[in-house]
Amino acid sequence: MGARLFLRAGRERSVERGHPWLFSRAIARVEGSPQAGEVVAVYAADGRFLAWGDYSPASQIRVRLITRRDTPPDADFWRGRLRRAIAARARLPLAGPTDALRLVNAESDGLPGLVVDRYGEVIVLQVLTAGMEARRTSLVAWLVELLAPRTLYERSDAEVRRKEGLPLRKGLLHGEAPPIPLEVRENGLRFLVDVVNGHKSGFYLDQRENRERLRRWVAAAGGGTLLNVFAYTGGFSLYALAGGANAITDVDSSAEALALGERIRQLNGFGAAEARTIHEDAFTSLRRLRREGARFDFVVLDPPKFAFTRRDVQKAARGYKDINLQAFHLLRDGGFLLTFSCSGAIDAALFRKIVFGAALDAGREVQVVGTMRQGADHPVALTFPEGEYLKGLICRVVA
Ligand code: SAH
Repeated sequence: MGARLFLRAGRERSVERGHPWLFSRAIARVEGSPQAGEVVAVYAADGRFLAWGDYSPASQIRVRLITRRDTPPDADFWRGRLRRAIAARARLPLAGPTDALRLVNAESDGLPGLVVDRYGEVIVLQVLTAGMEARRTSLVAWLVELLAPRTLYERSDAEVRRKEGLPLRKGLLHGEAPPIPLEVRENGLRFLVDVVNGHKSGFYLDQRENRERLRRWVAAAGGGTLLNVFAYTGGFSLYALAGGANAITDVDSSAEALALGERIRQLNGFGAAEARTIHEDAFTSLRRLRREGARFDFVVLDPPKFAFTRRDVQKAARGYKDINLQAFHLLRDGGFLLTFSCSGAIDAALFRKIVFGAALDAGREVQVVGTMRQGADHPVALTFPEGEYLKGLICRVVA
């Protein structure tokens, strides 16, 4: 019989409410000696069976809960969860053609520690927990069976794996080596994605719907200029150009990302005349542009995660305030700021306060005209509010 794990009194509540994480401090004792990644049975203090979960001895998140049914998860169970997640994406109201999207979003799809992204015929897998690592070979077989991909590539090189005591790893799992870069379509626009060397699985899929919104705001404004800060491969800029923007400026600290962005613009028929790239630290660029008296009709701020834990929140808040303050100074009257935070530790209410503080200090009168989140292929289970990490505001500078 497998290992059994008993909770401290009162700690069964969150399990009964469907939260997928059990922290080490909730656990009273472990019967048996489970290995990393082993499926364990979880019991309340009074001995009632609660759920099955993946055991991870190295992580503070000691168990990722999988199911509350009587029998432990077997191959049919996992195949069913994968099939359900994939089938839900087939019914998303995506504007076409779009062939780059997230198929499996970890906890929120009932598959903790597993991320699967589609880039056309190339599937990219991220295995992020000890439990998923233990069934990795089976996952590869099930995904090949369900998706019949030309390429299945692994990008398990995310830092979070260290918390699970797992090494970082990437490489080909099945099929042909992926083209570098490969071409995909998003809302009818053509993108180049490097799934081997790019960030995350190659592309920031979570911003698809927000990029589309920028296109519509630019079109409604009859064009204008865009400053795209933390641009990566210029996703927001391409949409702005497609919406009729007259000129875009991409700022990023990655020269490779900016260079790929230039190729992407060419591929979509936009010339170098309307585009400028600045390979520099964004904090420096924002200040310099302000000193030079630059002004824009649109500014996008999409920084990397500033807060990794609750302890980072204050310092992160200062970082967000700083860049938003600079951005408000750089906007023309009537201009728009699309500003984001992807730090889970900073919630939507705090983020709005930070942006408010920045507007006050910049002496600008600002309205919120829209709110943004991650796209529908990145669902958030109601039982798992931690999954809601990306938040954004569309702000109009009135005067
Ligand atoms: N908006 C992009 C995604 C941005 S991700 C899109 O839609 O695809 C964040 C980007 O910030 C990354 O490209 C990273 O290279 C860049 N970055 C991180 N720190 C930076 C810094 N200090 N200055 C400039 N760019 C930075």
